[in-house]
Amino acid sequence: MSLIVQKFGGSSVKDAERLFNVADIVTSVYKEGNDVVVVVSAQGDTTDDLIEKANEINPNASKREMDQMLTAGEQISASLLAMAIEKLGYPVVSLLGWQAGFLTTSAYGNARIRRVNPDRIRKELDKKNIVIVTGFQGVNRYDDMTTLGRGGSDTSAVAIACAMHADRCQIYTDVDGVYTADPRKIPAARKLDVISYDEMLELATLGAQVLHNRSVEMAKKYNLELEVLSSYSRKPGTIVKEENKVEKMLISGVAKDTNVARISVIGVPDKPGLAFKIFSKLSSKGINVDIILQSIGRNGTKDISFTIAKDNLEDAKELLQPYVEAIGANSLSCDDQVAKISIVGAGMESHPGVASDMFEALFSSNINIRMISTSEIKISVLVNIEDADRAVKAVHDKFFD
Ligand code: ADP
Ligand code: ASP
Ligand code: MG
Repeated sequence: MSLIVQKFGGSSVKDAERLFNVADIVTSVYKEGNDVVVVVSAQGDTTDDLIEKANEINPNASKREMDQMLTAGEQISASLLAMAIEKLGYPVVSLLGWQAGFLTTSAYGNARIRRVNPDRIRKELDKKNIVIVTGFQGVNRYDDMTTLGRGGSDTSAVAIACAMHADRCQIYTDVDGVYTADPRKIPAARKLDVISYDEMLELATLGAQVLHNRSVEMAKKYNLELEVLSSYSRKPGTIVKEENKVEKMLISGVAKDTNVARISVIGVPDKPGLAFKIFSKLSSKGINVDIILQSIGRNGTKDISFTIAKDNLEDAKELLQPYVEAIGANSLSCDDQVAKISIVGAGMESHPGVASDMFEALFSSNINIRMISTSEIKISVLVNIEDADRAVKAVHDKFFD
């Protein structure tokens, strides 16, 4: 007998037919004598729809009230799935995040899991129940419900699997695994049988939404293998696991992130300490800076450009605008019509020429690169947003055709 954690995303539970399909998958594993804990997302586009509804009432609603509302999406899908399983004649119970022991930080809208206390889940499993848990949510120290950030149900599933030392953690979604690029955008994308935690973490962070990046981070920390597979087909999926068990691929994937904005501080006096001042200002507000470019000094000034998440642009502008004058810089220029295109691959560490191949692919498609950043296993470039899809295709063709 094994303990199996299965997570089903929004499209896998979007209507009655899909719910009964999930009920079939879950009960077939239960029938084999396993303990099963199931984590669900809200049905279909429910979370987006709820956000839209809230915006009609108050676009500046507090994050607490947003969470109070958003947690309802998962509550509905969890209870509906339990009802479907009841109808098939199996013992089942659905639990909300707080009932399932999810204790989080208090950051509404983007809370982190501090601890999972799985006592209640364990009790229900001991009673031979199939346990359905709402993904994406927990409770903070004020006894308020919190959400874990968009796509966070993956992290809920991984957290339960780690806390309960599950034998398997399966992330069921609407594609049959992790591909070399988003298979909905790039039909030539190939499915990967395996991928290392580090590569998957980079891909997820750089825009491949198939897994929430924090779920990969946690799986890596606890050395929990993840299986990403489709709830629509019964094919084997992709295994995410430790690097030394994975044959190194030169490039394992291409990702696109459109939640990016570029800021340039123009005419910064060319003297020590100013970069520190600008970035510490941003970090004091929790704004993460990604690609950074500093021009060489000319006539006593230099320009500092960097990227941040588009969601942070208004906050960053508000913070930096008055500051620009205070440090004697000329102006602030912002652009949110940009996208970040990245390639990820553990093999690039030991292969020269990967960057030049990527740049050649972009050049051949007449796409201008605005900024570049690299690490051992990834190369990212910033391009104009209208070039983003062509850029992904050009780069993918170069490495995978
Ligand atoms: P779920 O609702 O099941 O959590 P998501 O919509 O969050 O599903 O994630 C699955 C989607 O991720 C796919 O439909 C696909 O379009 C997208 N995607 C982006 N990049 C990749 C990739 N490299 N491999 C697989 N899917 C990807
Ligand atoms: N329902 C949430 C969202 O749409 C969480 C998830 O799907 O993982 O972001
Ligand atoms: Mg998701």
